[in-house]
Amino acid sequence: MSANSNHSNDMTEIREGDIVFECPDCGKSMAIEAAGAGLMVPCVTCNRQVQVPIPDANTPEVRIPGRASAPVIHPNGDPHETIRQLDAALAYANEQTDRLVAEKEALQERRAFLEQLRMAHTERLQQLANEVQQMQDTLDRIGILLTEIRTERPM
Ligand SMILES: [Zn+2]
Repeated sequence: MSANSNHSNDMTEIREGDIVFECPDCGKSMAIEAAGAGLMVPCVTCNRQVQVPIPDANTPEVRIPGRASAPVIHPNGDPHETIRQLDAALAYANEQTDRLVAEKEALQERRAFLEQLRMAHTERLQQLANEVQQMQDTLDRIGILLTEIRTERPM
């Protein structure tokens, strides 16, 4: 896999989804297909190994779960047909309810997980603060000792 040169007069080389990046050494603008994210590629101009940037993982594609459109009820005078349509509508409503309940449970699980993570971080921060405080105390004691040693030393 190699990076394409990105001359201003042949922008057609860049396809949608390509990662456009610059050589940190010579500033050469290059483009590579999305699959090249994170790879080391030689700069097309100065041959320096350049790491292809990885697109921001925090902005994934938003995927809306597939949902069939609600069945339409067309009463046409045939009671059997109307009942069939109502059954279909009911089945659809039940499916949607199940889906929403599952989604809600997944969100609750996620929230519980994030809460645990937050608490673990808070605990760790407290530990670190205690350690820093202990270190500070030790430094203070060393400082006092050094002052004492200096003042006790006969000049
Ligand atoms: Zn370069």
